[in-house]
Amino acid sequence: MQQSNEFRRCFCPPIPEVFDAVRFLDAAVSAHLQGRRDIADELFRLANIKAVWDWTDSIWGKNSPYVQIRKIPTAPPTLPKGERVKVRMPTAKEKALIHERDGYHCRFCGIPVIRPEVRLKITAEYPDAIPWGGTTATQHAAFQALWAQYDHILPHSRGGNNDLDNIILACSGCNFGRMSSTLEEVGLLDPRLYEPYRSSWDGLERFMHKSKIHSIILGGVVADNLREGMFVELVPKPDYGLGKVLKVTSDKAYVFFKNQPAREAIAFKLDNNQLTLSTVQSDPVLDNLPPLIEQDNNKVVLAGKSKRWTLQQTIDAFHVKYLLGFHDPAYLAKHGERNDKWVAHVSSARFIFQYLRQVYFPV
Ligand SMILES: [Zn+2]
Repeated sequence: MQQSNEFRRCFCPPIPEVFDAVRFLDAAVSAHLQGRRDIADELFRLANIKAVWDWTDSIWGKNSPYVQIRKIPTAPPTLPKGERVKVRMPTAKEKALIHERDGYHCRFCGIPVIRPEVRLKITAEYPDAIPWGGTTATQHAAFQALWAQYDHILPHSRGGNNDLDNIILACSGCNFGRMSSTLEEVGLLDPRLYEPYRSSWDGLERFMHKSKIHSIILGGVVADNLREGMFVELVPKPDYGLGKVLKVTSDKAYVFFKNQPAREAIAFKLDNNQLTLSTVQSDPVLDNLPPLIEQDNNKVVLAGKSKRWTLQQTIDAFHVKYLLGFHDPAYLAKHGERNDKWVAHVSSARFIFQYLRQVYFPV
């Protein structure tokens, strides 16, 4: 056996089906966040690819052809339990630092990984699509292969500590394939010699995003742990009926109200335990404004096209034209015409914020 050929980046390079499964999972979470549970369900099922299960099993399973342990005389011995570092797993804070450094990819084979906490939350929502039993045979192939592990480079049982230098992010196959062997004993290259893999993969973390605050009042309904799909009520505008939470990012909730004559969701900024409308999202205003039509020498001209209007001029013109505001029948008859979107010159986000508050939260 040639020594130089024995050392590898990983036990067995990922097969293409692993990345097919990754794409299915990513699309499933996107569908879920858009409220398309039926599509999400189907995509989670599609990610359960037998070839992926076989690939993982070929690495961590019994008699793996890829994992051969050889004796290294100088390797640190297995320590009696009492002599090992007391706490084996990194703390939540340490894990966060590891993800900050390693992202959401295995440092050995580079495949995307998913934290168990994220998997638990997703499987709770889609228990039928994502089997997860106590044995490896009864686990969803993709969630199993992509199971994030905090892997000790020098194994805990061999005296490894929890210094961040000694712990890397790994997939289940790479972690459980090696178990308590040193890198040298199984012929793996030290992954710390290489930069972590990078991609747009977010570990499906966006499934977890909730408002920073514990509860939010959108009118009379207290929505604990505001999350996608939840119905909320906007009391200052009771005629809107129930709104559906479309998306919650770390600091914003996007709510679409059925009777709201706009196609965009209203963005609510979540901070300081206060519900405020986002100063960033100007579109909910502009998209609500119709393409006003002016008569000019018997020629129909779209207002705003020929001249730049300030937001206030836009609002004033809107109220002149549609006395009943967004509920004016003339407006409602037109509200589909987004192609002729109103051209309004927005002078400052602050102004929009004040206007929005006035419209949606009149004191
Ligand atoms: Zn791996």
